Amino acid sequence: MTSRILVLGGGFAGLWSALAAARAREMLGADIEVTLLSDTPWHSIRVRNYEADLSDTRVALDSVLAPVGVQRLEGTVTGIDVARRIVTHEAARASQEIGYDRLVFALGSRLARPPIPGLSRHGFDVDTYEAAMRLNAHIAKLSTGGSTVLVVGGGLTGIEAAAEMPAKLRAAGIAAPRVILADHAPRIGSDMGDEAVPVIEEALQALGVERRGGVSVAAVDARGATLQGGERIEAETVVWCAGMRAHPLTAAFPVERDRLDRLPVDATLKIRGLDAEFAAGDAATFPIDGIHGCVMSCQHGRPMGRFAGHNAVCDLLHRPMLPLSIAWYTTILDLGTWGALYTEGWERKLVSRGANAKQTKELINRERIYPPRSGDRQAILDAAAPTVQTPPVKFG
Ligand SMILES: Cc1cc2nc3c(=O)[nH]c(=O)nc-3n(C[C@H](O)[C@H](O)[C@H](O)COP(=O)(O)OP(=O)(O)OC[C@H]3O[C@@H](n4cnc5c(N)ncnc54)[C@H](O)[C@@H]3O)c2cc1C
Repeated sequence: MTSRILVLGGGFAGLWSALAAARAREMLGADIEVTLLSDTPWHSIRVRNYEADLSDTRVALDSVLAPVGVQRLEGTVTGIDVARRIVTHEAARASQEIGYDRLVFALGSRLARPPIPGLSRHGFDVDTYEAAMRLNAHIAKLSTGGSTVLVVGGGLTGIEAAAEMPAKLRAAGIAAPRVILADHAPRIGSDMGDEAVPVIEEALQALGVERRGGVSVAAVDARGATLQGGERIEAETVVWCAGMRAHPLTAAFPVERDRLDRLPVDATLKIRGLDAEFAAGDAATFPIDGIHGCVMSCQHGRPMGRFAGHNAVCDLLHRPMLPLSIAWYTTILDLGTWGALYTEGWERKLVSRGANAKQTKELINRERIYPPRSGDRQAILDAAAPTVQTPPVKFG
């Protein structure tokens, strides 16, 4: 009987898992069905959701999966029964089950939304394509109205969203936009380290983005936010960018998750303590260089996916699996029209800034992280090899 590898999720980890499994199946001449189950027909280049033009940020999954013979199922995963090796999903309002011989869990992460009054009703975000489109549509309608945007969360996503905002607002016809970036931490960007923080501050200053450290939001409404202590920040738009959590279905596995709800995997991406289940991307963690835990990023999610898909096939065929280890780590942060920031290493040493770093960022966002879009079967299989890329190119 044909065995089945079932990949859950069509993001960076899921897509590359399925493609790598198809590649390994072909290389090893195995009779294995590879199926990708996702709630959308699109592969979203989620990292671009803060940008103004999202028209090119989705790739049809079928355009990449079909040429290499990966089946696609559309539905929302609702449960995983590890003991029976069954996944339950909902499609067209009907609940269905599908079995697996090997599973790759790659349902990713979600923006953490604390139970702050008014946040879910009035807050915007850039977590998904749909949410980012809703924000951009709202901004386009602001032209005759308000001009203040409050971005909450001074991590990488919040900084990128805030840095892009003045240009977005001007493009919407607002001559004097006001953008405020607020965070719990006293200093915005402090996680980025001593060399990067002054560069971030310089860029935000040049862009006219106000920084508010030490801020805790107590409530959100249609006209802004109320802070703990009662202070008001009047804003027609509040964008929530404060933190990520792994997908809640990670709770379906009988293992202890980390503080971000991620599943513990070993270097082959198999979930620790389980026999047939792998996990990759934002939903999984292990010391990626032997020391540092994975970062929720496409930088780690894509290679995790390639290794998980390859190893799922090898495991099924009782072949040796490949351990993933990535010796380098980079952060390339978009800083709007000012440029970008490129740092290297876990201690984040400055490599380049401004226009030079922006060139790297654009290459990443527009080329490096896309699957081949030619439909060429061999090019797709080659791109899915379980290898680690070299760090992004440096300019200047
Ligand atoms: C605005 C923004 C900027 C970012 N910038 C960067 C950056 O510069 N560099 C970087 O490395 N990372 C960045 N990230 C993080 C990066 O996007 C994530 O780490 C990456 O998307 C994780 O990939 P993933 O495949 O694990 O999960 P996801 O991309 O979240 O994919 C999950 C998949 O699962 C599907 N799914 C979810 N739930 C279900 C369900 N119940 N049933 C079926 N399907 C489901 C989704 O539709 C999706 O296809 C950024 C993120 C955001 C939001």
